[in-house]
Amino acid sequence: QPVLAVVGRPNVGKSTLVNRILGRREAVVQDVPGVTRDRIAYDALWNGRRFTVVDTGGWEPGATGLQGSVAAQAELAMSTSDAVLLVVDASVGATATDEAVAKVLRRSKRPVLLAANKVDDERLLAETASLWSLGLGEPHPVSALHGRSSGDLLDEIVGSLPEAPRDADRLGGGPRRVALVGKPNVGKSSLLNKLTGEERAVVDSVAGTTVDPVDSLVELDGQAWRFVDTAGLRKRVQTASGTEYYASLRTRTAIDAAEVVIVLLDASEPISEQDLRVVTLVAEAGRALVLAFNKWDLVDEDRRYQLERELDRGLVRVPWAEKVNVSALTGRAVRKMAPALRTALSSWDQRVPTGQLNGWLSDLVAATPPPVRGGKQPKVLFATQAGIRPPTLVLFTTGFLEAGYRRFVERKFRERFGFQGTPVRINVRVRE
Ligand code: GDP
Repeated sequence: QPVLAVVGRPNVGKSTLVNRILGRREAVVQDVPGVTRDRIAYDALWNGRRFTVVDTGGWEPGATGLQGSVAAQAELAMSTSDAVLLVVDASVGATATDEAVAKVLRRSKRPVLLAANKVDDERLLAETASLWSLGLGEPHPVSALHGRSSGDLLDEIVGSLPEAPRDADRLGGGPRRVALVGKPNVGKSSLLNKLTGEERAVVDSVAGTTVDPVDSLVELDGQAWRFVDTAGLRKRVQTASGTEYYASLRTRTAIDAAEVVIVLLDASEPISEQDLRVVTLVAEAGRALVLAFNKWDLVDEDRRYQLERELDRGLVRVPWAEKVNVSALTGRAVRKMAPALRTALSSWDQRVPTGQLNGWLSDLVAATPPPVRGGKQPKVLFATQAGIRPPTLVLFTTGFLEAGYRRFVERKFRERFGFQGTPVRINVRVRE
């Protein structure tokens, strides 16, 4: 979702105005320079549009002097957001610092709005006209304290933000879509038959049913699921080569068409390169993942121990995968499949509110800052969860974050918020 950064000198009422925008008293209403706020980014909703409001008051840009520091704040705001709101104090008028900041903001390629705050009475309304001199267009008079005209300002703000793609566009209704993949003879058709009940599978294979002929509608745990691209799995007899080979185009197509993927592994045999490749495909495609270890009836104590070693070595990239041990032959734990799918999908759908995310993140980077690179300490300014399916975070920073640090952030993020069963993407937006 788009980001609005709010900049301005201390004491102009940024936090109070942010509260107005958010419609609640959550931001810390204290504009003392040097006071570090632990929460700086929030979700806002106006006229059905969602956006993130960032209160740059917590940034402490580090430049010397008030003027330099607020100008540096404006620089950062410009490079990390989609629009900037400059707040000035109408009861004071434009100060030298405001002018310095306005000069920086006039270079912005993105929209900049000007709020004249503290217009608490009619007298001050006339004063706001003088703020045209800042060269940022029309000053919008507001009284953050009384709520005066903040609706008009919000209309302007929302109008200036780029349209965000709506998650809803990607959802589509109906049963959740599942792909069942795995190398030949791992037990895919056996499992599908077990899940559907033998007769049902036969019925489904009749042409002209309501379901897309290559998909199977399966009821598990009182819920309908659409198993995609199962046409080739319904027949018990498969040719050993040719019609279905692993990591083939067909596997990719099924993964792309699905929301959650069951990768079926043969627990009685060593995990192969092919298995790992498909697991990687699923993670890279951003789909929820259930690893199902089939033929569990053949697994004894020794094999179990071995398998654990193989998992430690082979599945380091997907420690978050949801796992189930099953036997398509005996029916063991097949009823655990639906709960596993549900867990993975609810993680895939999960969204952490911006305020909560930043409360956690500021503690994390304070305790463990990113490693210094080229003599510079990159700062993590704030984060938003830009999307779901799969969950995608954007970290706004002042410098490049090493892959190791991004993995650290992901691990801590999962420890705090869960997300079992889904890949999580972490993008970094470095100021230009
Ligand atoms: P597909 O190629 O992945 O669809 O695999 P199939 O479902 O055709 O199964 C391959 C072989 O493995 C068949 O002989 C099945 O009977 C056998 N099989 C499938 N699941 C299990 C299981 O859980 N335990 C055991 N012991 N054999 C299984």
